Amino acid sequence: MHESHQVQHLVAHAQKMIAEKKIVTPSAVTVVVGEALGFDEMSMRLHWEEFVDGTSLEGVKLVVLFVPAKLQCPACSGLFPKKGSQMSCPKCQVLGKPTDSGKEFFIESITG
Ligand SMILES: [Zn+2]
Repeated sequence: MHESHQVQHLVAHAQKMIAEKKIVTPSAVTVVVGEALGFDEMSMRLHWEEFVDGTSLEGVKLVVLFVPAKLQCPACSGLFPKKGSQMSCPKCQVLGKPTDSGKEFFIESITG
C-alpha cells in the first residue's frame, strides 16, 4: 500500500505547518492529489485516521481534492485533462503526451 507511506509524510508535514502557522485548533486539512498517482481516497482516509490518532490532528477533517492527469498536445503545446481513454487534444485531435501534471501531492491549506 503506497498510500500508507505518503499519508505518514502528509501527517508529519501538516503538523509542521500547524506549528509554523501557530494554528491552535485546526479543523480541516486540504490535500491536492494527482489522479495519475492512482491513490484510493478510502485508503488514504483510513491511513490518515491511523496516523493522526493521539496527535494534535486527531478529529481534523481531511479534504482530498483530486486533480486530473494532464496531457500535452505535440501540435499546439496545449495542456488538456485526460478523460478516461480520451487522450487526444480537443483542438487538434492529435494524441497527447503524458506530463508531470497529475502527480501532485501536497497540502493546499490548513483551516484553523
Ligand atoms: Zn492541440
